[in-house]
Amino acid sequence: MHFDHIVVGIGGMGSAALRALALRGQRVLGIEQFKIAHDQGSSHGHSRIIRLAYNEHPDYVPLLRRAFGLWAEIQDEYGERLFVQTGGLDVGPAAGRVVQGALAACKTHALDHECLEAGDIGRRFAGIRVPSDYAAVFHQEAGYLDPEACITAMAQSAVRHGATLKEGEEILSLSMHDQGCEVVTNRDRYTSDGLVFTAGAWSSRLLPRLKALAIPERQVVGWFDPAEPSAFGADRFPVFILDSHLGEYYGFPIDARGRGFKIGRYHHLEEQVDLSAPMLEPGGADEALLRQAISAYFPDANGPLQRMQTCMFTNSPDGHFIIDRDPGDQRLAFGAGFSGHGFKFACVVGELLSELACEPEKNPLPLFSLARFE
Ligand SMILES: Cc1cc2nc3c(=O)[nH]c(=O)nc-3n(C[C@H](O)[C@H](O)[C@H](O)COP(=O)(O)OP(=O)(O)OC[C@H]3O[C@@H](n4cnc5c(N)ncnc54)[C@H](O)[C@@H]3O)c2cc1C
Repeated sequence: MHFDHIVVGIGGMGSAALRALALRGQRVLGIEQFKIAHDQGSSHGHSRIIRLAYNEHPDYVPLLRRAFGLWAEIQDEYGERLFVQTGGLDVGPAAGRVVQGALAACKTHALDHECLEAGDIGRRFAGIRVPSDYAAVFHQEAGYLDPEACITAMAQSAVRHGATLKEGEEILSLSMHDQGCEVVTNRDRYTSDGLVFTAGAWSSRLLPRLKALAIPERQVVGWFDPAEPSAFGADRFPVFILDSHLGEYYGFPIDARGRGFKIGRYHHLEEQVDLSAPMLEPGGADEALLRQAISAYFPDANGPLQRMQTCMFTNSPDGHFIIDRDPGDQRLAFGAGFSGHGFKFACVVGELLSELACEPEKNPLPLFSLARFE
């Protein structure tokens, strides 16, 4: 029952950390309260955008290069497709944050990209209509990952490389003692030399010091059957980030299993989640928020609703990740506050966490350090 490390929460980041630690030959235990690849947290819904021309900050680009390579390795090991390349469009007012941010990433890192003016966008992608002052940055490498399959692949790989995995077991408390770290669950008690904490939206329940740094927020995505489906297939319609007068939206083409045109709005209705109560089921107000962007920018997709689904963002104060050690106890490394854009990085976050856990001389990346909030 004593391990080198225990990984707390086996979702997107935890499954990656478990694998990375197992690959290092560590004796590692992962504990997950639900089943692996469940639909209660932040990592479900069949698709997550991955793109290189990163409008959020150019410093993410080297991590993304690593992520593309690692996902390909994990896909090879798993033997089933995890990534679908569609190309990606960052579109919005030419002078706006998304287009300018994507251009800055392309310039800083000499990324292949195409700049499209408003007229080019509609000619190239028949499903999209934008006003004349809009522009876009198109990048060929972008596409989407299947998050449930990625988590399954990483968890299985971890176990194959020697990790122990407990599913359906809720962690009730964590404590640090001179002789080691202690994890108490609803079934058992385990000890370890170090903890890697990746509890997502539930972070502040077990680590109250993360309360103001990792705030859960309700999201809703919807899948729609386009009135005119031919323009929305994955062979001709890219994943997109849309900066618009209605807010920032993101979306996906119809996938190979016939799941419709998928769209979500960043920060949706700006509703904080109360983790002690069941999350509000999707309803009319959610659909209306998604449909208003569809009718304005993707009118041919404005057909019947297939389904909606809730999910959670866990927001940090500045929208960047927190990947660091606890200043009070260096045996505790954590990854939190992935702020609605973390999944594509999960495999790299796993590596970063395993470095923080196993290499005492390693410092956190400044963009992700806790010290930035001091
Ligand atoms: C609608 C939506 C769309 C998104 N789109 C994108 C996108 O296109 N591209 C992208 O890169 N990112 C996207 N994201 C963000 C990305 O999905 C998240 O940043 C990422 O999945 C977070 O992973 P996580 O490991 O932190 O959380 P999770 O995957 O939720 O993992 C946390 C795990 O900890 C477990 N846990 C918590 N407490 C306990 C406990 N007490 N005991 C045991 N287990 C516990 C949970 O059950 C859970 O499995 C999106 C998010 C949402 C919600």
